[in-house]
Amino acid sequence: MYDPNNIFAKILRGEIPCDKVHEDDHALAFHDINPQAPVHVLVIPKGDYVSMADFSDRATPEEIAGFFRAVGKVARELGLEEGGYRILANHGANAHQEVPHFHVHVFGGTQLGRMISLPKG
Ligand code: AMP
Repeated sequence: MYDPNNIFAKILRGEIPCDKVHEDDHALAFHDINPQAPVHVLVIPKGDYVSMADFSDRATPEEIAGFFRAVGKVARELGLEEGGYRILANHGANAHQEVPHFHVHVFGGTQLGRMISLPKG
């Protein structure tokens, strides 16, 4: 079930501010409040989708296309294409998804290393 009181829903409704970098019919992009790279932007769809699982299952083709075009556009407009960037979406507990509104992280602006680091043990 989608929680309409999650923090990204409040950002979409304009109830709390964000440091916006892009907005169109399908997506809103803003800087992460706790950046993990020199550039760390979140791109979220405008519809009520909990996670990647929900978005890929229920979103219309127009919403999916519009959203992923926005992700690419944001990275391009942030000047990340030449040097390279990484996108990441956490779904559920194992991935430590904190905010239950689907979002893609865009990381860049430095050498990001190879893939992800897993906890030891
Ligand atoms: P995830 O673990 O994939 O759900 O990531 C949630 C992300 O949202 C984290 O990187 C947080 O730093 C970020 N975040 C939480 N609240 C805000 C906010 N108000 N504005 C911008 N980013 C936020």
